[in-house]
Amino acid sequence: MSDYTINTKCVQGGYTPGNGEPRQIPIVQSTTFKYDTSSDMGKLFDLEASGYFYTRLQNPTNDYVAAKIAELEGGTAAMLTSSGQAANFFAMFNICEAGDHIVSSASIYGGTFNLMAVTMSKMGIETTFVSPDCTEEELNAAFRENTKLVFGETIANPALTVLDIEKFAKAAHAHNVPLIVDNTFPTPVNCRPIEWGADIVTHSTTKYMDGHGTAVGGAIVDSGKFDWMANAEKFPGLTTPDESYHGIVYAEKFGKEGAFITKCTSQLMRDLGSIQSPQNAFYLNLGLESLHVRMPRHVENGLAVARFLEKHPKVVKVNYPGLESDPYYEIAKKYMPNGGCGVVSFELEGGRKAAEEFMGKLKLAAIETHVADARTCCLNPATSTHRQMTDEQLEAAGIPAGLVRISCGLEDKNDLIADLEQAL
Ligand SMILES: *Cc1c(COP(=O)(O)O)cnc(C)c1O
Repeated sequence: MSDYTINTKCVQGGYTPGNGEPRQIPIVQSTTFKYDTSSDMGKLFDLEASGYFYTRLQNPTNDYVAAKIAELEGGTAAMLTSSGQAANFFAMFNICEAGDHIVSSASIYGGTFNLMAVTMSKMGIETTFVSPDCTEEELNAAFRENTKLVFGETIANPALTVLDIEKFAKAAHAHNVPLIVDNTFPTPVNCRPIEWGADIVTHSTTKYMDGHGTAVGGAIVDSGKFDWMANAEKFPGLTTPDESYHGIVYAEKFGKEGAFITKCTSQLMRDLGSIQSPQNAFYLNLGLESLHVRMPRHVENGLAVARFLEKHPKVVKVNYPGLESDPYYEIAKKYMPNGGCGVVSFELEGGRKAAEEFMGKLKLAAIETHVADARTCCLNPATSTHRQMTDEQLEAAGIPAGLVRISCGLEDKNDLIADLEQAL
């Protein structure tokens, strides 16, 4: 598939049926797989042969869909997880352990912020949060001896800041650690972080990739570019023997291209078990087949709504990287020349109360803890997704209390604008 454009990969990537085989990706609704001899199966347990034995580790349906996502992002290997949360946790925990340290953009999804600031911190992994707009000096100053990775979101949910991927990649690589980028909002149709230096890309496939509010899921893609062996002492999990698999060394046995995803599957998925169901992977693939058709419409609607809101007297501020007045306009143009996504956020005069009143009057845009759906939806982060954050943390993450996030769906933009107008 590598010779085709991303549009064709969305439709046909990952799965090429043989003679007489199903045209659509089959749902392999089986927990387990049958073998003729114990020694055949033993080779799979030893990672001596590749194949399927138990769906908690791998399933053909998931692998077809993961292979498509790897092609879309330009990676060498990928895996699906049960959610975007699991994808980000697995991607980080595949590299880090107790006593390690992470440098992360502070402008990230609330769930990921909690994962690092609360749960991973309890596990002994500390995170230093930096502004996505920090200088190179400030970014470099956040690193420690035990820093193992850098994390950021291409377009942050919900602050809509844009990550300078090259700046973050440069700092990560200067400290011999990989950059993980959560590329959920633009999707590979609008941005491919690996082309700008990211080493690992994660997704909440729940959002645009699924695109229809159907199935919660996640994905991890490895660029295959990070040289674990060159920094062996930093990444013992990948570069020293794994006794639970008879002493194999992932980076030696599977190389740069395969080590990360193989370890993540055979260790973390085995032990933590956050697999995506094959049924959900099938739904995800239906979404992927039209991703390249849907994303331009989401962008068109997002831009039209942002332009309308910007001119409205009751709106204090609009965040949308596609607006010329947005501080991220230039950087967004660099990384996402065809636009980013359909999510717009804006601050209403009158704070929390005005936001609640306004949202109650909307007819097309439903109040939901969701984004990136075919149907327009909206949310006030301060009273929902981000309610665990203090006012200072909210301010630092660029999410004032009166902020409304609207995810523009695939409806007619004029109908959406009319709905906003009557509610305002
Ligand atoms: C939603 C989201 C997540 C979490 O994904 P789930 O599928 O809800 O677990 C992670 N990162 C970003 C950017 C998101 O928007």
